[in-house]
Amino acid sequence: MDNFKEKIDYCLNCKNKPCSIKGCPLNNDIPLFISAIKEENYEKAYEVLTNTTVLPAVCGRICPHYKQCMGSCVRGIKGTPVSIGELEAYVGDIAIKNGYKIKKNDVKSNKKIAVIGGGPAGLTAAAFLAKEGNDVTIFEKNECLGGILTHGIPEFRLERIITEQSIAKILELGINVEYGKELGKNFNLTEIESQFDFIILAFGANISSKLHIEGEDLEGVFGANELLEKNSHPDYKGKTVIINGGGNVALDAARTVKRLGAKEVKVVYRRAREQMPAEQKEIEDATNEGVEFLYLNNIVKILGEEKVLGVELIKTELVQKEGEKRLSPVNIENSNYKINADYVITAIGAHPPEISAKLGVNTDKRGYIEVNEKWQTSNPKIYAIGDLAYNTATVAWAARSGRDVAEKINKQ
Ligand code: SF4
Repeated sequence: MDNFKEKIDYCLNCKNKPCSIKGCPLNNDIPLFISAIKEENYEKAYEVLTNTTVLPAVCGRICPHYKQCMGSCVRGIKGTPVSIGELEAYVGDIAIKNGYKIKKNDVKSNKKIAVIGGGPAGLTAAAFLAKEGNDVTIFEKNECLGGILTHGIPEFRLERIITEQSIAKILELGINVEYGKELGKNFNLTEIESQFDFIILAFGANISSKLHIEGEDLEGVFGANELLEKNSHPDYKGKTVIINGGGNVALDAARTVKRLGAKEVKVVYRRAREQMPAEQKEIEDATNEGVEFLYLNNIVKILGEEKVLGVELIKTELVQKEGEKRLSPVNIENSNYKINADYVITAIGAHPPEISAKLGVNTDKRGYIEVNEKWQTSNPKIYAIGDLAYNTATVAWAARSGRDVAEKINKQ
């Protein structure tokens, strides 16, 4: 890390810790772990971090730091914030290299808990339960754990090896894993309910939402989540690809498609750049890689007979609607125009798979599982966390729900 000493000395060790309290979804004790780095006590820095997170090497790389911890850093008021993400990743990496362990408390609990889904929420719940001596089994549909970390976020943003090594540390806590187990496909809740005291649903919400416009069923229209999850793409070489959306999934898809040889990649977003949910750095990186952005544009129709030939767009303007905090995009009449395209990738959001509505617990009409403040569903034995329970679709918030549910169960 360049200017490492400068970066750690730059932290003011603020007593009220806005970076931790206001900024970090996991409330990591940021000044304390940075102080431990200053003392060159990296094991202590890792211990401080793993009091609240079991994914420091991952979150240090992929969290939207400028919207979270670094966005609340006092240093950022008049200048540049402390490089919190980089320092967190540094500690996570040293822990992997030096073989530091996540500390387990010296207790033995008799609870048996099933966690369905081994993504960031499920892994974190399993880890914080195993730390307290519970008997935890993760049921994972794939042959490897990680969820969106291994089947979603591209390698150029998060190296697979970092995820694998972080997961290995979690499994060292003594967690059982049943691979190749997909709820509703090769097992169901009634089969396992009697074997466990609690069941935590954490299988995510990774089905791309529909645009509900003409042409959406044409050949050549894909959901970004499915493309990224399965990593199975058409041949983009020499093609023009339109991505619809403004979040990290849209940008991950755009940058992946560009790397896979697309001639032109255009991201259509109905608001302005400042409103884009993706981090500014991601937008800059994508721009530098040749991705174009069509801000203040809406796709109204996908053109073609059998397969995609183009899209019809309309320009939008932002207006302040009564009772709404956020500026809303409104189509500008008669501003329609058409552009050619070979593929359209939708990235306007996602929802849970169909199985979520068939589990006998209350859901909303989109399939998100309803939970109370303890993350408990309408069945008191079953909990739901992460994106599935309508969390905010970031890794850190998913992990937070995992830690919270573990704390609730640990107290029972
Ligand atoms: Fe350090 Fe910034 Fe947090 Fe203050 S707000 S403790 S300067 S990281």
